[in-house]
Amino acid sequence: MKYANIIVNISHESLDKYFQYVIPERLRDELSVGDYVSIPFGRGNRLIEGYVMEITDKAEFDPARLKEIAEIKTDSRLVEHKLIRLAYWMKQRYGSTMITALKTVLPIKKIIKEKENRSIILCMEDEAAYERLELYARKHQTARERLMRELINEKQLDYRLVTTKLNISAATINAMEKQEVLRVEKTRVYRNTTGEAEKSSGRNRIRLNGEQEKIASEIINEYSRGIRNTYLIHGITGSGKTEVYMEIIDAVVRQGRQVIVLIPEISLTYQTVMRFYKRFGDSVSTLHSRLSDGEKYDQFERAKKGEISVMIGPRSALFTPFEDLGLIVIDEEHESSYKSDSMPKYHARETAIELAKLHGASVVLGSATPSMEAYYRAKKGDYKLYTLDRRAISDASLPTVHIADLREELKNGNRTMFSAGLKTMMDERLEKGEQIMLFLNRRGYAGFYSCRSCGFVLKCPHCDVSLSSHEGGRLKCHYCGYEREEVKICPECGSSYIGGMRAGTQQIEESVKKLFPHASVLRMDADTTSAKGNYDKILSAFANREADILIGTQMIVKGHDFPYVTLMGILIADMSLNVGDYRASERTFQLLTQAAGRAGRAELKGDVVIQTYKPEHYAIQAASRQDYTGFYDEEILYRELMEYPPVGHMLAVMIESRDEEAADDYAKALAEVLKSDIINGLYPGKVRMIGPADATVKKINDIYRKLIYLKSTDQELLEALKDRAEELRDIGRGRILPDSDDAGRPAISGEANSWARDKRIRMTMDMDPVNGY
Ligand code: ADP
Ligand code: ZN
Ligand code: ZN
Repeated sequence: MKYANIIVNISHESLDKYFQYVIPERLRDELSVGDYVSIPFGRGNRLIEGYVMEITDKAEFDPARLKEIAEIKTDSRLVEHKLIRLAYWMKQRYGSTMITALKTVLPIKKIIKEKENRSIILCMEDEAAYERLELYARKHQTARERLMRELINEKQLDYRLVTTKLNISAATINAMEKQEVLRVEKTRVYRNTTGEAEKSSGRNRIRLNGEQEKIASEIINEYSRGIRNTYLIHGITGSGKTEVYMEIIDAVVRQGRQVIVLIPEISLTYQTVMRFYKRFGDSVSTLHSRLSDGEKYDQFERAKKGEISVMIGPRSALFTPFEDLGLIVIDEEHESSYKSDSMPKYHARETAIELAKLHGASVVLGSATPSMEAYYRAKKGDYKLYTLDRRAISDASLPTVHIADLREELKNGNRTMFSAGLKTMMDERLEKGEQIMLFLNRRGYAGFYSCRSCGFVLKCPHCDVSLSSHEGGRLKCHYCGYEREEVKICPECGSSYIGGMRAGTQQIEESVKKLFPHASVLRMDADTTSAKGNYDKILSAFANREADILIGTQMIVKGHDFPYVTLMGILIADMSLNVGDYRASERTFQLLTQAAGRAGRAELKGDVVIQTYKPEHYAIQAASRQDYTGFYDEEILYRELMEYPPVGHMLAVMIESRDEEAADDYAKALAEVLKSDIINGLYPGKVRMIGPADATVKKINDIYRKLIYLKSTDQELLEALKDRAEELRDIGRGRILPDSDDAGRPAISGEANSWARDKRIRMTMDMDPVNGY
């Protein structure tokens, strides 16, 4: 007997209240997840409608008392139908319960009173406005100057955009309103001043160059012939990818279909958003994480009603309920923020491709440094590949990249964090009043273990990833648990300068202040940006030249444009190279390439200094030449050899508990069963189990983390093992937490108290992990 779990009321709060029905023989072959059905309900058996959320063999109630589904009323055009099917696919692919998956894709229903939008309107003639602009500039009122410049261009601006993205305070706006420079007005809907008719033909349309034109017209051409595809545009920063996206979006919107544009939140700057508003007017809407649930829901409602046709936002914008989605664009496709960090741990790229299939849409991916996954697929012919290898504006020159060998510096007696070359260039810049960025590509907490004299790094003999140093002098592999004693003498060169590498932004700030006492310094890292809005504040302060030097982690190399930065120092490139993670080289290449792109974007010529203990490493060499394919060709050999993604697949099963023993016991028991299943041939095919071992970060907030990795080139086999692991939740019956709480958040939040009381365990799955543990 087959049963269907049916939800009658699609809203977050009521997803847990589903009803079970018997699937009658005549509907058995036809019925599938996502179908809209009518069912007899209540005492009187009146017919009501609902959606099939799950099909199962397990009766949750007495089967004799279950009623039968009356008929299938499926209307596959319904957006709910597609979203439920998408949730089902996500559950299968990434692992989670159906309810958690549904909560991820369905908007949270919140009744909010409609918020009035406000606009800022310029109340001066151009000439007077320009005089005012000069006055602000003379008085160094940078915020006012910035707002004035935008107002002169646009005449009218969205209030929320100005305060959040342009980072102008309400006080500044008020002051300018008092001066009668501008007025703030309530508008129901944001109106674009360029007007509907001009939208795509007016002054905002840039003429594409030959290369851009070729890509756009080929994709548009295929689209209008009904061909649906995934395209990858590999184009260096500034090569004009965004213009190409807009051209294609325009064509799709003209056909009356809708478009989702994913941009990593960190790059979703005022400038980017404005470009879309200017071209598509108020048919554009944006999502970002600072919106409340109610505001988000409101945006989704507008999408459903057809009031907007282009939604721009981070990962979760993918679930905008458009009725007739025609295109999904994913900019900076390689960004790790496209992978969800709560269950189901979906990747936006793969999920977008699945969603596109459901809608008959196309997908356009773009990146200056495509992920290994995307490029691999493109080379295999699954995606269509295009390349843009010149900057669209030719006077934007590429910086000169220098490599500083830190081993040589040590030999020459320099024990500071700054190579002689970098120090000289910094002095020069400070003299000329140009700006400097110092970048620390640090990720995670654990340090790696290396020789400062020859650059040798201790690696796991089984997994070919770096070992991490721990308290008590142990070195560990975080894939397999391999452990060894610390070494005091470098096995490669015999030097005693071998040890754990740790460096933080704070230490760097201190040494900068010592070496360059007259320079003003800003620091940006998790500590200084934890307060809301600080991120934008620090970046705008630096953009306004309020400091000479900006020190920071990856956050500083994304988003903003800094025309006066002419020197980028990457202090220890090896920091990201030696994390115990198979993606370390890829991430390093991306970060270095991105960082190098930050220097010298305007007319000033830029220099980049990459400091490293391993100047010969292919990721560093390729990044210094901005040579993507050179990097890819080397890296794919390593992935092939080790069968790491994208060549193979990898499933991480994480077991967490406040009680270390409980986590350990459960992880071992689970591994035991999986192993015997594999040995007994229940899952035919080649699969390797690694672990259980401690995660790189062994404990977070007093919760211990154990990991089991399963590796195979056969994706379906891994999915089957994932399901098996799910079934085995029973081993820990009563102790294992559901994978999310009722609000769809990971169960770990808000659970702190009950975790302390008992030995409960949480188990989460991650298929093809992107961010290390
Ligand atoms: P990417 O998205 O690849 O980083 P953008 O689309 O942002 O590149 O283009 C970089 C800059 O070049 C932008 O200021 C854009 O307006 C400009 N640009 C792009 N294409 C053209 C073109 N065909 N003609 C003139 N300027 C262009
Ligand atoms: Zn050595
Ligand atoms: Zn190992």
